[in-house]
Amino acid sequence: MDELYHFIDGQRVKGTSGRFADVFNPATGEVQAKVPLADASELDKAVAGAAKAQIAWGATNPQRRARVLMEFVRLLHRDMDKLAEALSREHGKTIPDAKGDVIRGLEVAEFCLGAPHLLKGEYTDGAGPGIDMYSMRQPIGVAAGITPFNFPAMIPMWKFCPAIAAGNAFILKPSERDPSVPLMLAELMQEAGLPDGILQVVNGDKEAVDAILDHEGIGAVGFVGSTPIAAYIYERGCANGKRVQCFGGAKNHMIIMPDADMDQAADALVGAGYGAAGERCMAISVAVPVGDETADRLIEKLAPKVEALKIGPYTGGDDVDFGPLVTAEAKQRVAGLVESGVEQGAKLVVDGRGFNMQGYEDGFFFGACLFDHVTKDMDIYRQEIFGPVLSTVRAQSYDEALGLAMDHEYGNGVAIFTRDGDAARDFASRINVGMVGINVPIPVPLAYHTFGGWKKSAFGDLNQHGPDAFRFYTKTKTVTARWPSGIKDGAEFVIPTMK
Ligand code: NAD
Repeated sequence: MDELYHFIDGQRVKGTSGRFADVFNPATGEVQAKVPLADASELDKAVAGAAKAQIAWGATNPQRRARVLMEFVRLLHRDMDKLAEALSREHGKTIPDAKGDVIRGLEVAEFCLGAPHLLKGEYTDGAGPGIDMYSMRQPIGVAAGITPFNFPAMIPMWKFCPAIAAGNAFILKPSERDPSVPLMLAELMQEAGLPDGILQVVNGDKEAVDAILDHEGIGAVGFVGSTPIAAYIYERGCANGKRVQCFGGAKNHMIIMPDADMDQAADALVGAGYGAAGERCMAISVAVPVGDETADRLIEKLAPKVEALKIGPYTGGDDVDFGPLVTAEAKQRVAGLVESGVEQGAKLVVDGRGFNMQGYEDGFFFGACLFDHVTKDMDIYRQEIFGPVLSTVRAQSYDEALGLAMDHEYGNGVAIFTRDGDAARDFASRINVGMVGINVPIPVPLAYHTFGGWKKSAFGDLNQHGPDAFRFYTKTKTVTARWPSGIKDGAEFVIPTMK
């Protein structure tokens, strides 16, 4: 069995804490590697190396830093198949979806090629007599990222690409469920010309996370994962005086208006609800048809499509729609929630509970489930399921549908399917959710816009990637400079104003 490692100061480093976690192949259920879980002393070494290396990196001109990312993009393309295979083997998603995971991260690396432009400050010529004022964006120093299992390539890249382009060193603590791709990414960055120490991968669990949150040498922490952990990390990191941004869970609604193209809506729901086995923070997990007639038409189109979904291992060929869940516990949790939905009175139109993947009986597969007549008080509506389960909540009016999405505690993504521009416009304007799709089921903004939810889906005030990332990973310094031109005033005791 493989023993994984940390990547510190340009080297593969064995774990010394004596603690390890199992890394599974979710398709077979076998343990394929063990990953070391760092303790505070291992983290400390990584931070010390990062802080040392950051001084020269922060002083390197931004164009040269961006060129490292340019080469990194080339290497990602070169190793795409290898990365996708390693990703699918630990996560379970299909190979085309694993490539999408890499590409969505790569696109942020491409955006960061504009770092020299994004890091420019502001300048006021003649703010007063002989006075100029200008601001500069300077790196924080050492930043850290704590990332989830469900996008082991994309989210680490969303974090480290802008942080490093902005002149920081970065400590990545990836998910212990699928750490191989993050390790491969760090080695590719090194091959692309990144100096040793600027990207350190420290594997671990809560112990390593707590060490990050308490470490005085780390100035900023970016997190993505479930909401309870996001809240915890936000509180503890902020209490320690760090800059913290945390992105949490989701319950994304898709509203289907009576005038929507029902075939298009049903196709969108199948892809967005069941792709990656529903293990996406932008998955649609709630369908809200407006009016019973719309609901009946939708379910009639949706049910056969859900029944026809092809589930299989990532090695199962191009027609596999989705793979297993990430762990046996995840499968058990999803099964428990489906059971609760039945017990609490929802109608299970497509029942995936008995699904058996022939030849992969020990894998963590779970069949696609479709619920109708779900109500607001049910656990399957209130909780994020993170599995291949779509709940249909019937609304009697547009306002009721809007209210459902507005009242839910999560606010990551939302979509409306309609042919009515007025309804779509009203929806986009009033909804209290961070990312909105109009006839688009998974409205993940592109790299040059920013990604972030509202309500319990995000903590902190800046989004991921886009210009916000450069704000998050830099501090603003404003300089007021005066070069007196012969006018020598005496001492001034009153605060200067522009009166
Ligand atoms: P998770 O919260 O279990 O783990 C995320 C990270 O936190 C991992 O690195 C893990 O090691 C660490 N962690 C776990 N428990 C911890 C604890 N008690 N103390 C400190 N650190 C801890 O999340 P996950 O299961 O890996 O990912 C799925 C979740 O992530 C879902 O809720 C999903 O919606 C969310 N997610 C959100 C976004 C977003 O941008 N909003 C994107 C992707 C995933």
